[in-house]
Amino acid sequence: MDVPTADPAPLPETPDLQGAYPRLSDEQVQILSAHGERRATRPGEILYRTGDENYDFFVVLAGTVAVVEQEDGGAERVVAVHGPGRFLGELSLLCDQAALLTAVVHEPGQVLAVPVERLRELVSQDPALGDLVLRAYLIRRSILIELGVGLRIIGSRFSSDTRRLLEFAARNLLPHRWIDLERDREAEELLSQLGVKPEDTPVVIWRGEQVLRNPSNPELARSIGLLDPSSGSISCDLVVVGAGPAGLAAAVYGASEGLTTVVLDGVATGGQAGTSSRIENYLGFPSGISGSELAGRAVIQAEKFGARINVPAEAIALERRDGHHVVKLDGGSSIAARTVIIATGARYRRLDLPRMEQFEETSVYYAATQVEARVCGNDPVAVVGGGNSAGQATVFLAQHAARVHLVVREDALGRNMSRYLVDRIERLGNVEVLCDTEVRELRGDDTLEALVVENNRTGERRTLAARAMFVFIGVQPHTRWLADQLALDDNGYIRTGADAASPNTAGQAGQADRRPLPLETSRPGVFAAGDVRSGSVKRVASAVGEGAMAVRLVHDHLQQVGGSGQ
Ligand SMILES: Cc1cc2nc3c(=O)[nH]c(=O)nc-3n(C[C@H](O)[C@H](O)[C@H](O)COP(=O)(O)OP(=O)(O)OC[C@H]3O[C@@H](n4cnc5c(N)ncnc54)[C@H](O)[C@@H]3O)c2cc1C
Repeated sequence: MDVPTADPAPLPETPDLQGAYPRLSDEQVQILSAHGERRATRPGEILYRTGDENYDFFVVLAGTVAVVEQEDGGAERVVAVHGPGRFLGELSLLCDQAALLTAVVHEPGQVLAVPVERLRELVSQDPALGDLVLRAYLIRRSILIELGVGLRIIGSRFSSDTRRLLEFAARNLLPHRWIDLERDREAEELLSQLGVKPEDTPVVIWRGEQVLRNPSNPELARSIGLLDPSSGSISCDLVVVGAGPAGLAAAVYGASEGLTTVVLDGVATGGQAGTSSRIENYLGFPSGISGSELAGRAVIQAEKFGARINVPAEAIALERRDGHHVVKLDGGSSIAARTVIIATGARYRRLDLPRMEQFEETSVYYAATQVEARVCGNDPVAVVGGGNSAGQATVFLAQHAARVHLVVREDALGRNMSRYLVDRIERLGNVEVLCDTEVRELRGDDTLEALVVENNRTGERRTLAARAMFVFIGVQPHTRWLADQLALDDNGYIRTGADAASPNTAGQAGQADRRPLPLETSRPGVFAAGDVRSGSVKRVASAVGEGAMAVRLVHDHLQQVGGSGQ
């Protein structure tokens, strides 16, 4: 496959930005050579193209290779140039996703092509090489996100579908550029070139040419090669429902301990933690780590051991059939498994206010990440809630918004919030904390303009200018999809262990005829881990710990029923 090279003049090699483009040592090239094939290259030869789902891991041995993006209208933008000793690819190669960029030989020479399955084996056998490649790929992905290569999302900031697509792209670490119909001048011109009417937006442009009109998340995932097309009806040892910290930990331990493991998530990997801009209390990260980075690393780790992660794949029912547990998915397919770990976590509660539903379309948010910060711009915002999530959101939003009103029902900020966050908020000049205060009214036409708040001791009311409201007022578990299949507590959380066998669950569907193992639900072989479990402590570390522990108990269960437990 060749393309003509317009300019054969040498291109300078891209400098090694923060470890994104390291050079392999001669020894490492030697090791890789035993698993791949050397071949000569010609100028203009395409090694892989945007959208390719199967391509090799290439090491440049001689000459140069340019990595380019196909822009709108067929133009090419050079993202990086690599010379001898450098390797190509980025995160999508290891995650079985379609290539985001095209690699074109610039100066002729030689490459080493290693099949990706061999690379995966090497990465887990050779920690130094594995670390070098993983680190480089993670940094390359963050560079691509910053450059805004890849998808174009054209839509209005006031459209809930635009927000859904932006959230989907950001939560799944998909590099993209948002072209706002309200503010970006190029939007209309681009739409008329594509023959799309503004009322038909949002649209997503993939590979600079394919136009997807308001795709659902699964449609988008399938079009860009994110969703495994073989994720239809299959069977495995362990299905993990939910890919937050608990589910990802279960995936890493399950797959690394020899269980065929399939992971499902309805939205994105990372769960609630993935929406946190900085987690500061997770062991081993003294300067904190963003939730999306933690999730990105965990996904690679799980896939390295062979776990199959399917996103978006929403579980809608759990059944028992022919001795297997069957998880039914939105869209009609299903997965049969010998064991199940439910790690579907929880989501934020809604405020019970008039016109809430209307404003949820445009101005109310349940997460504070770069996506929401971008949409809100420099406008004043309000955060509602007195826990750590509200505190983290306030600290983050104060870097972007002109003013942040923090509305807290309790009489002091420190009632439910960690001291380090209270101290930080108190030092922020553009944050106003309103204690003993509750929201009573939302004002604005289509979009939020102000909140009316009331002091719950004095009854005094105030109007606060706010173009967006961020709500963090406690959580409710994702268990509706389970209907009456498992024993739940009064708040809808899944009972496990002795609690699942307690007399007040007697008669509920799926009751075991033996005492459930710890973390086992009222149905033998089905376990629950993390925030969705009754009595859990709602922390990243505990969710991770429970995910790991649940796998140990899966082995115990399989041993009891005569399967291959460890
Ligand atoms: C903004 C914010 C900041 C936080 N900061 C911290 C912090 O600094 N330190 C800390 O320790 N904790 C923090 N937490 C709490 C921590 O994130 C949670 O305790 C942790 O994420 C729980 O992990 P989990 O895997 O149990 O569930 P979740 O993280 O809730 O993940 C559940 C996953 O299941 C998926 N899911 C739900 N239903 C279905 C279904 N039917 N089918 C398929 N998938 C489904 C969801 O999409 C989600 O991805 C924070 C939480 C938030 C929201």
